[in-house]
Amino acid sequence: MCGIVGVFNKEEAANYVYLGLHALQHRGQEAAGIISTDGESFYVHKGRGLVNEIFNKKGIISSLKGRLAIGHNRYSTFGDESLANVQPLYAHFDLGNIAIAHNGNLVNALGIKRHLVSEGAIFNSNSDTEVIIHLIARSKKTSFFERLVEALSIIKGAFSLIIMREDEVYAVRDPWGFRPLSIGKLDDAVVFASETCAFDLIGAEFIRDVEPGEVVIANRDGVHSYKPFKNRSEHKCVFEYIYFARPDSFLWDRHVYSIRKKMGEVLAAESPVDADIVIPTPDSGVPAALGFAKASGLQFDFGLIRNHYVGRTFIEPSQSIRNFGVRLKLNTAKDVLDGKRVVVVDDSIVRGTTSRRIVKMIRSAGAKEVHLRIASPPVMSPCFYGIDTPTKKELIASSHTIEEIRKYSTAESVAYLSLEGLKSIVGENGYCFACFNGDYPIEFEK
Ligand code: AMP
Repeated sequence: MCGIVGVFNKEEAANYVYLGLHALQHRGQEAAGIISTDGESFYVHKGRGLVNEIFNKKGIISSLKGRLAIGHNRYSTFGDESLANVQPLYAHFDLGNIAIAHNGNLVNALGIKRHLVSEGAIFNSNSDTEVIIHLIARSKKTSFFERLVEALSIIKGAFSLIIMREDEVYAVRDPWGFRPLSIGKLDDAVVFASETCAFDLIGAEFIRDVEPGEVVIANRDGVHSYKPFKNRSEHKCVFEYIYFARPDSFLWDRHVYSIRKKMGEVLAAESPVDADIVIPTPDSGVPAALGFAKASGLQFDFGLIRNHYVGRTFIEPSQSIRNFGVRLKLNTAKDVLDGKRVVVVDDSIVRGTTSRRIVKMIRSAGAKEVHLRIASPPVMSPCFYGIDTPTKKELIASSHTIEEIRKYSTAESVAYLSLEGLKSIVGENGYCFACFNGDYPIEFEK
């Protein structure tokens, strides 16, 4: 998924970017990096792990000098885990230095890369983002802006980008608008971030979202907006509302928390249960479980207790670690569950690993019945635009009926929010629902 932040014109810009990345930690926990500039040199620090692990040594942040800085939290969807793939990527070319932070996935990067390599280009990483740098550097246009627009017209897919040069910071959203990116203000500084929770932490004021297909430039002449690309129909990723974004973020004119709560309410109306208590899978299922409990008049309780010192299980790359992760992260409150008919609400089922383990845990804590309620439709198709669901085979709902999923999970009943129910909350148009209905706005090119 990835989280990106950029700051233009603030003393100790890297410090603000660091805090912004910290607020966006949920968007990527594998690696992170910050690049700053004082108008002459670029200063770089990157590492693997969590933001506070990477930047915790004294002197690291203060060595990232200057009033401009950008940063990136990595969650790998493309490219391997080596440090060369950790962003922001940077390069020197005929117009100076460039650093780039990308959230999203390009669908035609492999073809472009093959072509560039056949013409002699050398790649440092196997990240799809590096093709953007090559396209900018090789463009025959004269100004940086024209080169950028040309490069971004060649690539296809999901890209929310923050780009830094010696004296300016750019924020771009692809014409489909898959991934979020917002503009904020902090005194005289301009701040860009994937989500508004990053602005809240640093005391910046949210101004507005970068629009699909918009290029925003912050430089010493002010903030400028351009719409240089062909119009496309908007396809914002609905999974941001379901799982990715932090519930305290204000995304695409709506509060994420309220949307999730509403998902639980609609789910309760669609698939009610005769039960004693409603519990969430913490933390992702909490707002939906509250909505479910409210709409069904059932008592809300915490039957699963989360250990907050482990990351999101799903983000760990291998299945064996993922399996282990559920137990690392959650335990049962037995006095809450013993003898009860329990509804457990989660935001989504992807591979089915979490729900099966959770149902078993709840039952072994003494629950009489366990009913799974999922606050999104069945995930049937992989995402090509930045979410880590690489193959169809791994998605349990792509090859199993709901009854088969129920059997696998060992729950008494399983029900998902319907796609119509989801659309009744977020709206019929303007979103990408491809993971639920296979309706891809742009095909992946091999
Ligand atoms: P699974 O065990 O594979 O079914 O994963 C489902 C759990 O992972 C749910 O509890 C979600 O909160 C969470 N989740 C759903 N989608 C994603 C994703 N793309 N990346 C990380 N976690 C996810």
